[in-house]
Amino acid sequence: MRLIAGNWKMNLNPGEASIFVKHLSDNIEASDNTEVVLCVPSIDLYPVSREIDRKKFKLGAQNVYYKDNGPYTGEISAAMIKGLAQYVIVGHSERRAMGEDDKLIAKKMAAVVRSGLTPILCVGEKLHDREHGLSEKVVVDQLTADLADLTAEEVAGIVIAYEPVWAINNQGAGKAVPATPDDIRSIYPAIRTTLEELYGEGGLEGVRLLYGGSANHENARAYLEVQYVDGLLPGSASLNYDSFSKMVKVSQSL
Ligand code: PEP
Repeated sequence: MRLIAGNWKMNLNPGEASIFVKHLSDNIEASDNTEVVLCVPSIDLYPVSREIDRKKFKLGAQNVYYKDNGPYTGEISAAMIKGLAQYVIVGHSERRAMGEDDKLIAKKMAAVVRSGLTPILCVGEKLHDREHGLSEKVVVDQLTADLADLTAEEVAGIVIAYEPVWAINNQGAGKAVPATPDDIRSIYPAIRTTLEELYGEGGLEGVRLLYGGSANHENARAYLEVQYVDGLLPGSASLNYDSFSKMVKVSQSL
């Protein structure tokens, strides 16, 4: 099952989310080859979970803390959102840029899996790494560190999104360079090899690999046709119901 997961980031309050989800629902049909996930701000999880058509959409959180409960002011846990969301984005480059390191990300991965949710682990190199030919090394190192606390059984079924940081549209803070399918082609076999090395053949069981970085309805097909790409993680385009719906349709048509 292919996966199109929209990351709304810090956008849309509950009222706006409600209107947006209605537009999406009018434009997206359920299908048996594409799962559609909306990764919404925490404050939208509860209201949106009550409004969405669960045949068409699943919900994801954009972050959780690594403890299940306790004195952690301002945080929410995977255990708390179970029942509302099925997915959690972990290790997004915007959170890494705020100071999350691989140790913390590994603990969050373990917490998400422990709660029975599916992590969408984001990995990807910065422009500087790419310019020095280090793209694969950075991704393999992140992956190895971020999965360190998981067993082979726990890795089965997770989602890994390759998101080259230089290709992410950061909404005005600097220009993203679109990645071509050729730019990203070699990363997916490297991710698969890493999983096999870490966990044996079972390490690939049910694992889906996504691409993220300025993906939209115009380039969706080209990315989805790259070998081993099972879906997309759009940010900006997920806030445009027309573009997001069209991306889902592209995936459904393949
Ligand atoms: C992202 O931040 O995960 C992302 C891929 O954003 P965008 O699609 O806007 O580049």
